[in-house]
Amino acid sequence: MKASFVAILLTAAAPAFAQTSITTLASPVAADSAVAALRDNALNNDHYAWDITEGLTTEVGQRLAATEAEARARDWAVKRLSAMGFANVHVEPFTMPVWTRGAESAEIVSPFPQNLIVAALGYSGSTGPQGVTGQIVHFDSVDALRLAADSAVKGKIVFIDHNMMPAQDGSSYGQFGAPRRQGPTIASLKGAIGIVIRSIGTDHHRNPHTGVQYFTDGAQPIPAGALSVPDAEQLVRILKRGKPVVMRLTLVSQKSEGAQSGNVIAEVPGRDPKAPILLVGGHLDSWDQGTGATDDASGVAIVTAAAKHIMDAGRPLRTIRVVWFGAEEPGGFGGTDYANVHGKEAYAIAGESDFGADRVWRFSSQLMKTDPAAYAQLTAALAPLGITKNDTGTADGTDVGPTIQAGAPWVSLNQDGIRYFDYHHTPDDTLDKIDPAQLRQNVAAWTAMLATLSGGIEPEPKRAKRR
Ligand code: ZN
Ligand code: ZN
Repeated sequence: MKASFVAILLTAAAPAFAQTSITTLASPVAADSAVAALRDNALNNDHYAWDITEGLTTEVGQRLAATEAEARARDWAVKRLSAMGFANVHVEPFTMPVWTRGAESAEIVSPFPQNLIVAALGYSGSTGPQGVTGQIVHFDSVDALRLAADSAVKGKIVFIDHNMMPAQDGSSYGQFGAPRRQGPTIASLKGAIGIVIRSIGTDHHRNPHTGVQYFTDGAQPIPAGALSVPDAEQLVRILKRGKPVVMRLTLVSQKSEGAQSGNVIAEVPGRDPKAPILLVGGHLDSWDQGTGATDDASGVAIVTAAAKHIMDAGRPLRTIRVVWFGAEEPGGFGGTDYANVHGKEAYAIAGESDFGADRVWRFSSQLMKTDPAAYAQLTAALAPLGITKNDTGTADGTDVGPTIQAGAPWVSLNQDGIRYFDYHHTPDDTLDKIDPAQLRQNVAAWTAMLATLSGGIEPEPKRAKRR
């Protein structure tokens, strides 16, 4: 690996890449040669991201927020980050409510008795082991439910259908995710005894997609579950026969207050401790059915690998802070806690990887407005990876969101989302869904971003002597 790195350095030093000066956004900009070398080394040789993703999903497995499994994941993270040579590795704990899943089943009692596959949504009310039995009332959207008379819903089990399709930018999750986010509250306020939704997913496997929802506006918790997509389609066919459909829904779950989660923090210390920080992160917790490989082991792995590539090259001017946020899935608790503690610090950039591990195809950044020269440098550094700039993009990342709201400039490296909602929040979110080549492209993109905004990387004196 060392030999190929040297070869890349030599190649990258060719005159075509050597131009570094920039003036305005409109000026032609070539990628900085040192940045290009680090980027291409990550693209061809990175193994850190795979090692973290494979290790975390194998040695810890699922990491449901505020549970003992998430605590083991924090211990794993501290050990791994320390072993990789990061500085200031520590956990910042916080308390939060914990929700855990129990037995779950959905049974059509009549007219055609059969079992359907269901998973409880986060913070679902519990039916108790006896379940609830009621007639299904069918809506094709959350708005149709919203417009329904209370009398049409009261005492029944609501079913919301939809037709989410894959989208490269993941945008369908917004509109088609509404049945999960808002459906249970609306159903409860109208007097429903339970709700099942078609999973917010784009696959046709019998894997229900869980995810968080909250009961707001004074709504009493009711049992709330997601049917797998084939099971939701089966229910639609049964309903189309025109007879009343009765379901027995059993979702046993538990919620308690005062559980512990935490953020794991590690740094590559900058030469100037007062320079604004480069903040990168992902979330350590996952839902409980799969092993959270794409959501979000790969995310923490990608940003950590990128920071490690900078560390391997020397010492950046700016400190790079890597955060493995806790408890993102049940409501972004880690991101909120981090911003409460660190939101007022000075940041050069804040970015998060939380959309799987398929290739980065597009990026956007607030730097377009605040530092057009840096934006142009980023554009040039990312273009060889096939990444296009998006001048109208917005900030993303639940975990860095509160810090961005507190004033940190943002960067978004958007991954291809075509496959993401096939596996998202299902038992199928496992390591085999990660494509190692696309994972390395992600690391290369984040490495290029960090190197571009690092303020310059100087080889460590000790390291230079060793070489
Ligand atoms: Zn996530
Ligand atoms: Zn998620």
